[in-house]
Amino acid sequence: MSERFRILETEARSILAATSGFIAEAGFSHSLSPARNCTFACTYCYVPTMGIYGGLKPEDWRRWGQFTTFKTNAAALLARELRPHMAIYCSPLVDPYQPAEAAARMMPRLLETLIERPPRVFAIQTRGALILRDLELIRRLAQRTTVGVSFSLPTNREDIRRLYEPHCAPFAQRLETIAVLRRAGVATYATLAPLLPSDPEALASAAIEATCENLIGDPLHVREVKRHGATTRDVARRIAVKHGHTAWFEPRFQAEIVRTIERVAESANRRFATGPEAFSWLAQSR
Ligand code: SF4
Repeated sequence: MSERFRILETEARSILAATSGFIAEAGFSHSLSPARNCTFACTYCYVPTMGIYGGLKPEDWRRWGQFTTFKTNAAALLARELRPHMAIYCSPLVDPYQPAEAAARMMPRLLETLIERPPRVFAIQTRGALILRDLELIRRLAQRTTVGVSFSLPTNREDIRRLYEPHCAPFAQRLETIAVLRRAGVATYATLAPLLPSDPEALASAAIEATCENLIGDPLHVREVKRHGATTRDVARRIAVKHGHTAWFEPRFQAEIVRTIERVAESANRRFATGPEAFSWLAQSR
């Protein structure tokens, strides 16, 4: 057990949830969340703002990132619930390669199950370099069905990473992780989301170099643009105020950053898109 977080266990009633909202619009039929609460504890994380609507317990949003609860029967449930037509997004509620996964080793069991009974699409959303531990299993699954990895790269600045997501891997390690996945033949997207203070041109150029796919992204969610549903945690806003980064929460400034990244992508014959359109690239069979 780590000093920073606790690992708890529970038995779930089901493991695949029918999608709604953003992920459904992108074309995913189901989501798979192997745990509740995420030990990356990002200061901007949208998930705790969903409260009970995200299937969380009050303790989860009060102490976000301080513990996580693994669903110990997840692989057995998955074997029962999997169907060939499913397009599965893993996960809108937790990073499957969060720090606690190193000890829990839940993903190898789930990947073995997916290899046995592959769905139409399986997409992994992560910012965890730990994904490379399971590279061989992911490669085997990719030989049987469409597999996509969306790897988060919110900033190219290490001072910013340390402020907003101190428990996540450094930028250079993330680029190398994307490159290793790509070289192994796994379709891997660099996902510039949420866009944190950064040099957007350098961020986009590094992402383009690391992956051969289009670029996915999204500005920080703000109420002026997204009136309902999940939004940015207050912790990140307080950091932004203290360090003079509030422009990154302003829709007009965010739009300029998006246009800058679009220009860099276009000059490299790639596309940069945000929202469901971007995530739909992961949901399409290849
Ligand atoms: S990795 Fe994702 S789910 Fe986990 S705390 Fe960070 S933003 Fe939230």
